[in-house]
Amino acid sequence: MKPAPFSLLIPDTIDEAVSALAEYGDAARVIAGGQSLMAMMNMRLAEPDYLIDIARINELKRIEVTPKGVSVGAAVTQSALASHAEAMAKVPLIAEALTHVGHVQTRNRGTVCGSLCHADPSAELPLLLCLLEGTVTLRSTQGERTLSAESFQTGMLSTAKRADEIVVSAFFPAAPKNARTGFHEIARRHGDFAIVALACIVEERSVRFAVGGVGDTPLAVNWPNLDPASLDEKLNALAWRLGGYDDIHASARYRRELIRRAGATLIRETML
Ligand SMILES: Cc1cc2nc3c(=O)[nH]c(=O)nc-3n(C[C@H](O)[C@H](O)[C@H](O)COP(=O)(O)OP(=O)(O)OC[C@H]3O[C@@H](n4cnc5c(N)ncnc54)[C@H](O)[C@@H]3O)c2cc1C
Repeated sequence: MKPAPFSLLIPDTIDEAVSALAEYGDAARVIAGGQSLMAMMNMRLAEPDYLIDIARINELKRIEVTPKGVSVGAAVTQSALASHAEAMAKVPLIAEALTHVGHVQTRNRGTVCGSLCHADPSAELPLLLCLLEGTVTLRSTQGERTLSAESFQTGMLSTAKRADEIVVSAFFPAAPKNARTGFHEIARRHGDFAIVALACIVEERSVRFAVGGVGDTPLAVNWPNLDPASLDEKLNALAWRLGGYDDIHASARYRRELIRRAGATLIRETML
C-alpha cells in the first residue's frame, strides 16, 4: 500500500521543528529514520497531513560521552552510534543490543531516539534505557523537560510525549565501574523483534534485571544481595507477574518459560 498524501517539512533547526509542531499539532508527525513510521503510513495506520523530517538537523546529530554515560541526539542513527568507539566502550551493552535491532540497512536509517519514540515492547533500545535508568529529553515551544525511561514509555507503542514535543536526545547511563552486564535475546530469526529480550547489571550480588517483549512496556526489577539459591523462585514470580500474551510468534506460556530459563542462564553467567 501507499501512504495517504502528506506535506513534507524539512526544518534546519530544532526551533523550526518545534514551531512547526506547535502550528500543526495532531496533524503533524516527526519523521526521523522512517523505519517504523513509513510502514505505519503505508498500512494507513498513521495518516499525518504533515511530516516534519528531523534527520538533517545538525544540532540533533551529537553523540556526547561523559563520565556518567552517553547522550544521543535524535538524528543519530543506530549505525552511527554503533560505530562510535568511545560511546560503545562507555556503555558496551548498547553495542551488544544494537546488533539485534533489525538489519544493517534499517540501522543505517533508523535512529536511536526513533526506536524509543516508537515504543515497541519488543524493541531492544527501550529495554536498555529502562535497565540503565536512562532519560529522554523533550522540547516544545514551551520549553524542555526530561523524563525517566519508566515515565516516558507508558504502554505498547505509546509514550508520554505530547503532540507538540520532539525528543531531542536520550541519555544512557554507564553501569557502575565494577559492575558486569549481560544481554540475551530470543527471536525467530536474527534481526527480528525479540520474542523475549533480557538484560542485566550485576554488582557483586546485587542484580538489576530487565525483560522486554512480555508486557506492554519493558520492566526492570532490583534484587539487592541476591541469594543465587533463590534465583529460580524470583524468576518464576516475575514471569507470572508479567503474565505475557499469546501472539503469532509465541505463547504467553513459552515467554514465561524463557524468562525462567534464559533469565537464569543470563544472570548466572553474568555473576560468574
Ligand atoms: C525490517 C525491519 C526490522 C526491524 N527490526 C527491529 C528490531 O529487531 N528491533 C527494533 O527495536 N526495531 C526494529 N525495527 C524498527 C527500527 O529499529 C526503527 O528504526 C525504529 O523503530 C524507529 O526509528 P526511526 O528513526 O526509523 O523512527 P521513525 O520510523 O521515523 O519514527 C517512529 C515513530 O517515532 C516518532 N519519532 C521519531 N523520532 C522522533 C523524535 N525525535 N521526536 C518525536 N517523535 C519521534 C515518529 O513520529 C513515529 O511515531 C525494524 C524495522 C524494519 C523495517
